[in-house]
Amino acid sequence: MPIDKEFRKRWNCTGEHSGHPVWVSPDGSECIHGKTAGVHLASCNGCMKCVPACPTKVFSVWLSPDHGRVVDPVRDADCILCLVCEVVCPRNAIHIERESGSSETLDSLLRGA
Ligand code: SF4
Ligand code: SF4
Repeated sequence: MPIDKEFRKRWNCTGEHSGHPVWVSPDGSECIHGKTAGVHLASCNGCMKCVPACPTKVFSVWLSPDHGRVVDPVRDADCILCLVCEVVCPRNAIHIERESGSSETLDSLLRGA
């Protein structure tokens, strides 16, 4: 199940973990860590492809009590919006916040359209 790209509007921000916000789905069953670089923990399989791919080292491995080995966006504030992590993630577990007005352009570039 991919990350809900609208989580910043639809999900509830319930707290903080390692300096980034934690969001909980409307039914309370799922969570996303991070704001600029959001990681849907239930989608992440811990493959670690995003860790070396990120130029600013946003992600670190984390043994989550509920999801096991996943990544946590511990340096969320250092994200430079390059979108490499979205490209390399095989599970669509990451969503990067789009700057106002850039969403359609960036999404079409990612699709190769
Ligand atoms: S968009 Fe780029 S800088 Fe931001 S978390 Fe992903 S790979 Fe790192
Ligand atoms: S690339 Fe995706 S699935 Fe792999 S560790 Fe990163 S967020 Fe998780």
